[in-house]
Amino acid sequence: MSDSLSAQQLLRIRTKLETIVAEQAGTKAADAATAALQRMRAGEFGYCVDCGDEISAARLAAKPDVAICVDCQALKDEEEDA
Ligand SMILES: [Zn+2]
Repeated sequence: MSDSLSAQQLLRIRTKLETIVAEQAGTKAADAATAALQRMRAGEFGYCVDCGDEISAARLAAKPDVAICVDCQALKDEEEDA
């Protein structure tokens, strides 16, 4: 898929995540970043944890600790609004 992350983008995202873990330890952001790093090690990074769809490279680049795709995010936002 042309929308996939390049090795260089992945490396940049990993560095970003490691920085969040180091600088914001104990916060929700650090927890999310830790989980993202674990998914990266498992080779599952970039796929929605809810539906398994590929998350777009642009979304990952903007928010590297994101774990779900835009569709699942929209559903969640609706639930939270309710
Ligand atoms: Zn999804």
